[in-house]
Amino acid sequence: MANPKILNFEGYVIHLSPFKESDAMVKVLTENGLMSFLAHGVNKPTSKLASSCTLLAFSKFSLSEGKNGSYTLKEAENLTSVDGKDSLERLACFSFIAELSHKLVQDDEGKASFPWLKRALEAIANGFDPLSASSLYIAHLLKICGYGLDVDECVYCQKKTDIAGISYSEGGFVCKDDLSEGGKQLSPRELKIIRYVFKSGLEDFERVSFEKKENLDLISSLSRYLNDLTGVELKSLFLLMRS
Ligand SMILES: [Zn+2]
Repeated sequence: MANPKILNFEGYVIHLSPFKESDAMVKVLTENGLMSFLAHGVNKPTSKLASSCTLLAFSKFSLSEGKNGSYTLKEAENLTSVDGKDSLERLACFSFIAELSHKLVQDDEGKASFPWLKRALEAIANGFDPLSASSLYIAHLLKICGYGLDVDECVYCQKKTDIAGISYSEGGFVCKDDLSEGGKQLSPRELKIIRYVFKSGLEDFERVSFEKKENLDLISSLSRYLNDLTGVELKSLFLLMRS
C-alpha cells in the first residue's frame, strides 16, 4: 500500500472552527494561498498541537491527505505567536486582522494577501501601532480583493485637483465641484490619510502612524464600505471601537 501523501508548509492561522468534541477545522494563510485542514484534539488542553493552532500563530504544519482529498494535521511546530496580553487594543486589532483575513480573502487572493498579513503582524510585534497596522491592512486587502478606492482623482470628472471628499458608493475621491453629486466632505488631513493607506507599500509599515481616532474612523468607514459591497460583517469591529 502506498504511503499517504504528506504536505509540509508554513503559515498563519486565520480561523478556527470547533468541530466535534475537541477537534477543529483550521484555516491557514500561506505564501502560496489558503489551506484548510482538520486538527484532531487541538481543543484539549493537553494537545501538543494546540499552540500551533491558535489564532494568528505562525507555524509549520505537516498534513496527510485522506482518500477523499481532505487533509488532517499530523505534526506542527509553532514558530511565532501574537501577544495580545496587557493590551485590549492590540488584542482587538488581532481579532480584527484575523476576521478580515478569514472573511475577505478567497482562494485566488491568498497569495497576494500573505505578505501584507506577515508585514502587519511583524510590525505590531516590533512595537508599531496596531491600529495603524490594521488601517494599512484593511486598505490593502480591499485592493487585493478588487474593492480598492480610487484615491488619485475625482470619481466623477477625473480631475486630480481640488479633491474635497469621498464617495464610498462611487468608489473614490470627489472634487469640490462634484461633492453635490454625492460624497462626504473630508478634511485635508483625512484625505491624506486615506490616500496614504491605499498608496503605501509593504516597506511603509512602521514608518507613519496615525491618531487612534483617525484610525478608528477610517477602519469603521472602510468596514461599512465592505459591508455595503459584499454583505461581510466584521464582528470584531465592535470590540475594536471600544478598545
Ligand atoms: Zn470632479
